[in-house]
Amino acid sequence: MTPPPSHKVPLGTANDEHTPADINIPDNYVEHTLKTTKPLPPLSWQNWQTEINWLNFFILVVTPFIGLAGAMFTPLRWETFVFSIVYYFITGLGITAGYHRLWAHRSYNASKPLQYALSIMGAGAVEGSIKWWSRGHRAHHRYTDTDLDPYNAHKGFFYSHIGWMLLKPRRKPGVADVSDLTKSEVVRWQHKHYISLILIMGFLVPTLVAWLGWGDAKGGYVYAGVLRLIFVHHSTFCVNSLAHWLGEAPFDDKHTPRDHVITALCTIGEGYHNFHHQFPMDYRNAIKWWQYDPTKWFIWTCQKVGLASHLKVFPDNEVKKGQLTMQLKKLRATQEKLAWPSDSNDLPVVTWESFQEQAQKRPLILISGFIHDVSTFTTEHPGGAHLIIKMIGKDATTAFFGGVYDHSNAAHNLLAMKRVGVLQGGAPHGLEDKSIPPSQRLKIAKYNELGAYGSSTAYSDGEGMLG
Ligand SMILES: [Zn+2]
Ligand SMILES: [Zn+2]
Repeated sequence: MTPPPSHKVPLGTANDEHTPADINIPDNYVEHTLKTTKPLPPLSWQNWQTEINWLNFFILVVTPFIGLAGAMFTPLRWETFVFSIVYYFITGLGITAGYHRLWAHRSYNASKPLQYALSIMGAGAVEGSIKWWSRGHRAHHRYTDTDLDPYNAHKGFFYSHIGWMLLKPRRKPGVADVSDLTKSEVVRWQHKHYISLILIMGFLVPTLVAWLGWGDAKGGYVYAGVLRLIFVHHSTFCVNSLAHWLGEAPFDDKHTPRDHVITALCTIGEGYHNFHHQFPMDYRNAIKWWQYDPTKWFIWTCQKVGLASHLKVFPDNEVKKGQLTMQLKKLRATQEKLAWPSDSNDLPVVTWESFQEQAQKRPLILISGFIHDVSTFTTEHPGGAHLIIKMIGKDATTAFFGGVYDHSNAAHNLLAMKRVGVLQGGAPHGLEDKSIPPSQRLKIAKYNELGAYGSSTAYSDGEGMLG
């Protein structure tokens, strides 16, 4: 879905912000960068004054105390309470539907009025400009779980939630191109007026609405302004922490992103993060209609009223492939925990005479070419011990497979566990199916275990692709 870099784009100079930032990076960029650049030293008692990002520290640590102190001296009116929740969703959607799904991932097209609205709503969440935010987020997707990921989840919950902003970045985030955003009039406009926009949208608008609406300016400032801001912050920060920590990996378990309804509830629908990291250009996070994803519903509604278009959806076939792979992986783990019958290659080959001789000493029965020792089972046989005893030293294939009783799959599986040898000359033709117990007719095999079936013979020259 990403258009290939146009050949018309000249290999630009470093100052040309319309040139993709990653156009000239070496093929081994990640390894090379991690090897050749040194991270800043870890935080310690000696360096904390210089290593803490004091502006972020103030916004993220001091603001909650201001909010709590304000709340202690400000009665909460119900109108202000309802408005605070609504305003939480308005500014939160600016981040989720705007910053994240529109600008960082280009998962749909938005009309100019919607773009301006989202950029203003997002400013009210006070999380940096669209350009700065999207640049970091694109690096997060590109270098997930590495030191080039600005909020690397391997550095712990606290670090990925908030720690990465409280400290000066230990390393420059990996290169990620945002030249498409620097071309955008709306992104440039927001970047330019960012400080005014956060003051207006973060604090002035909520204060004015509550004041003019129901005469509660102070409540508007404290609850819909400051405390709502703290909720929006931690709600969206959960996408980097909780979403990389809690839940299942139904699409791919290579990296830390996880799916969980609790994360979705905390983040206006960004909780299906395992899906999101697999299919980042999909406008959805939740693919089932009943899963909580208000951001998706918002984008979908914008499309219905003509404000958004080209909502990108990953092919369902590919989504299902990811799910199937993970399901098979789980089943394979279950399969590996079980004990399986010996294979004919692992068993001694026994002549008919030897079979006869040994059957005098212990209860051996021949079924489908395999010799079974039934000494531990004779008295437990549901049909009675006599039916087994009379078959000792004989071929009971016909009797076992319906001649006397058409045994269940479980009986066949259990029988196979009692194999002790293979009759020389093998099973008579036509018994192949009967020699494989039902539990092994459908098994999960890795591609390199498939033998002849798995090895590719499709190298015929002069045909197909190479033709
Ligand atoms: Zn993530
Ligand atoms: Zn994302």
